[in-house]
Amino acid sequence: MKISQLFQQKKAVYSFEIFPPKPTADPAAVQSTIEELSSLRPDYISVTCSAGGSGNARTGEIAQLVKRCGVEPLAHVTCINSDRSAVRNTLNALQALGVENVLALRGDRQEGVPESKDFAHAEDLVRFIREQGYPFDIAGACYPECHPECADLLTDIRNLKRKVDAGVSHLNTQLFFDNEDFFRFRDMLSLAGIDVPVQAGIMPLVKKGHVDRIISLSGAKIPAKISRMISRFYDKPDSLMEAGIAYATDQIVDLLSAGVRGVHVYVMNNPLVARRISENVGSILAEINAEPDNL
Ligand code: FAD
Repeated sequence: MKISQLFQQKKAVYSFEIFPPKPTADPAAVQSTIEELSSLRPDYISVTCSAGGSGNARTGEIAQLVKRCGVEPLAHVTCINSDRSAVRNTLNALQALGVENVLALRGDRQEGVPESKDFAHAEDLVRFIREQGYPFDIAGACYPECHPECADLLTDIRNLKRKVDAGVSHLNTQLFFDNEDFFRFRDMLSLAGIDVPVQAGIMPLVKKGHVDRIISLSGAKIPAKISRMISRFYDKPDSLMEAGIAYATDQIVDLLSAGVRGVHVYVMNNPLVARRISENVGSILAEINAEPDNL
């Protein structure tokens, strides 16, 4: 199923993001993680890929496992280090696996790795997928706090508009911890004439190993409430887990209250976290999606 159909059917779409496990991971454990995540009945599960595209075969393989578990996969595809022929191979492989939805990304710059002459921006990848006649639904990434390489949010949104106009049917945001940033961004998109559904990206901060890496990689602003939580519970794994789930739940409830079109949870391949969050917000999502259209 195309994710655009899900947005037509639902008021609020709920999804997870996972990453392909290392090739050395126990296949039975991988299978059981995907089965557990799928049993929570998210509307779809997105599967990341490596920036250089070298891990894209794993992305397809995991996307296929997700599909076999009865959940729609969204496969990430990057282009910054790939030429047209490599991207075509990736897209052909995904199509052959029955994948119907891709997230078209530029990918992060890596020092010393030569960049593509064919694709400078994700917009070029979106246009390529459309021009080549692939039937995928195409999602794009966006940044409520501005992409780190861009001088200002207005310029970033102008660039985003070109990407959407090239053929993106929904957007997934970078993770953020302050919902006000998302609400301001949503208003700005609307003023810019970007009217595709936008899903809010939520990352539960539940493990000390994630905390430093996620914060430095995403560049997300850290509200005082999160700083207090991290400094108080950094070395208390059970408390950090509980506090991180509570914070993410609070963010999601607030987003749903404000009529967000969807929430995309970065579950870091952790079925326990996914289960806890889903239990917390499942009945709210069900009631929102059962509301009549004129509400
Ligand atoms: P773009 O849309 O190309 O934007 C990148 C920068 O270029 C921005 O500053 C933008 O303002 C600017 N820009 C865009 N178009 C133009 C233009 N026409 N002219 C001038 N400037 C322009 N990375 C991975 O490697 N693998 C993943 O699986 C992955 N998944 C992600 C999922 C989500 C939801 C998000 C938000 C990010 C993900 N990333 C992933 C990270 C992403 O690859 C990086 O953030 C990357 O730096 C930008 O990718 P993009 O697709 O947003 O790029």
